[in-house]
Amino acid sequence: MKNSNIKNLVKPSVRSLTAYQAFDIPCKIKLDANESPYGFPFGPLLAKISTNRYPDPGAKELKRMLAKRLAVSPANILFGNGSDELIYYLITTFGGPVLYPVPTFSMYGIISQALGEKAISIPLDREFDIALEKTLMAIKKEKPKLIFLSSPNNPTGNCFSAEKILKIIELSKGIVVVDEAYQPFSSEKGFLPLLKDYKNLVIMRTLSKIGLAALRLGFMIADAEIIAEVNKVRLPFNLNSLSQAVAVEALEEKGELAFSIKKIVSERELLFRELEKIKGIRPYPSEANFILFRTDKPEKVYDALLKRGILVRNMTGSVTGCLRVTVGTPEENKAFLKALKGIYG
Ligand SMILES: *Cc1c(COP(=O)(O)O)cnc(C)c1O
Repeated sequence: MKNSNIKNLVKPSVRSLTAYQAFDIPCKIKLDANESPYGFPFGPLLAKISTNRYPDPGAKELKRMLAKRLAVSPANILFGNGSDELIYYLITTFGGPVLYPVPTFSMYGIISQALGEKAISIPLDREFDIALEKTLMAIKKEKPKLIFLSSPNNPTGNCFSAEKILKIIELSKGIVVVDEAYQPFSSEKGFLPLLKDYKNLVIMRTLSKIGLAALRLGFMIADAEIIAEVNKVRLPFNLNSLSQAVAVEALEEKGELAFSIKKIVSERELLFRELEKIKGIRPYPSEANFILFRTDKPEKVYDALLKRGILVRNMTGSVTGCLRVTVGTPEENKAFLKALKGIYG
């Protein structure tokens, strides 16, 4: 066929989407994507990988290791090529409506739309906590199959009230996914201990924020029946051999992982106190590896930082008037603060 209009062939829900923008903005100091400033060397591993063979579709070694560390059975774990992929799989498996508070991680909404499922977003309250009554009313009315709660929440940085999350898990007849991408940086213990008590609870974690974003390795922990259902839609070789091998090695290096997490948490506290001192800036307390802060001139501050080589995330559109900065190395944080003080000075 000639001169066809491809757009007319595309599903309406996809037609109205825009592709995820991963801007490649040149900068000296990259503090925009909640990555860890500390990576892992893995040279010798490369030699062990058979490039001609498909990866282990079950990622058995990694799963065994992780199950032991989390004190669950391997049957309770499913891996994704990043937890982004698991969000895709969960919505593919259970369908919508999909409910989540806003502002939050954008992929819940984007993937719901891509899959043509109804998305229901409930604004957070003034403290960036779950608006419980509104949420429970929406659950009753819309009967969401899936609820996504990012705690600590991206981009606000806070944990939601554990009692509120619990209420939602108890009252929902659908699946409640607690996305704990930032749990390693939090002072709260998370929802893993409650897994035995609630069949509809799914915990999502990732290695992306603790120094292994390049691997694309996320995992969910849930009742074996949920894992088995979601596993039906998983692409067979979603985790490549390299990522599996590097993850096994990194998890063996427990000390190194724990050290970099501790370092980031103490730097976060320092960064927060310094931000508080700047007139015109209001940082929000964070349990994650980033800090959201309000400024009286977001565009100007963003541009002025970038001019000094420092890239942060402009949250306009999701939390108007706010920027989000990832906690970097002590040197990076100092440079960021110095630049910011220069802009406000
Ligand atoms: C970064 C992030 C993810 C995505 O993690 P990947 O494993 O890299 O796909 C998931 N949830 C939240 C809340 C995030 O901030």
